[in-house]
Amino acid sequence: MTKKRKRIGFTTTLPVEVILAAGHIPVDLNNYFINNQPLALIAEAEKDGFPRSVCSWIKGIYAAARKANLDELIGVTQGDCSNTHSLMSMLKDQGVAVSGFAFPINREYNTLENEIALFEERFETDHSEVIKTKQRLDLIRQKLIQLDELTWKHNLVTGAENHYWLVSASDFGGNPDMFEEKLDNFISEAASRNPYKPKLRLGYLGVPPIFSNLYEVVCSLEAEVVFNEIQRQFAMLTQNTDIVIQYLDYTYPYSVFERLEDIKTEVQKRNVVALISYNQAFCHRQIDNILLRKYLQIPFLTLEGDQPGEIDSRTLLRLESFVEVHS
Ligand code: SF4
Repeated sequence: MTKKRKRIGFTTTLPVEVILAAGHIPVDLNNYFINNQPLALIAEAEKDGFPRSVCSWIKGIYAAARKANLDELIGVTQGDCSNTHSLMSMLKDQGVAVSGFAFPINREYNTLENEIALFEERFETDHSEVIKTKQRLDLIRQKLIQLDELTWKHNLVTGAENHYWLVSASDFGGNPDMFEEKLDNFISEAASRNPYKPKLRLGYLGVPPIFSNLYEVVCSLEAEVVFNEIQRQFAMLTQNTDIVIQYLDYTYPYSVFERLEDIKTEVQKRNVVALISYNQAFCHRQIDNILLRKYLQIPFLTLEGDQPGEIDSRTLLRLESFVEVHS
């Protein structure tokens, strides 16, 4: 009997290899939310009682989970968002089949290995299939490394394009083969461009911006983002053959100190001159920003966004002055 291909939603990047190896379709609800009338999705969540003072991403993910024709939802219960447990309860109450995946707080190899094994069991797939799938995805990830280099080494791919491709690799649009075909076309087109010459090389830290035009504004100021920190983490570009190490190298679920180490290395390698640190309103990760600012000894601008849409005039003014001062 043929196994049903299910649509499996998830709240943040997790071992997508397992979902694909089991023959299912991964759906990163963050990508779904931001690409499908995000303001309307937030309004739906608020209609269901979500308060104004809850992060827009959580409200968007909640409404997206109900809209995206999911068969199941995986909530990342450790290593992502402090709101996830409550979000899962709300969705369970709405009849969504919900389960969890936890990154170990101690970043310990055996604990994560066990968690991945349980995940495999949950989806009735065996480890050898998962490893085969990882090898397949790693070939696509190699191309994403090439795309990333076209951004920071060759100035041929913009920060906005870099952001788009890296975040999209958390679920490969549900179809890795189609994703790869589009990526191949994009890379060959980008490789034939003339390089741009930004007057300021920027790094972008934090969760993806809720602003729809942040990268375009940066570009219009003749600066460019040559390092997208968390987006690059979501794309899993470390190319470690051991799947457990791959998800231990992934800095996002662990502490800010792992992020700091990665940021320092990449800032130096990519010749980043200044950093924009994006904070989502009502997000607990704003506290991490205190330590990022403390330990990153280069010009640092903290921005905060709340609702989806274009950046407000105050943020625009702050960006303009920051770029002008550091160019
Ligand atoms: S931005 Fe922060 S509060 Fe919002 S969903 Fe992400 S981790 Fe949670």
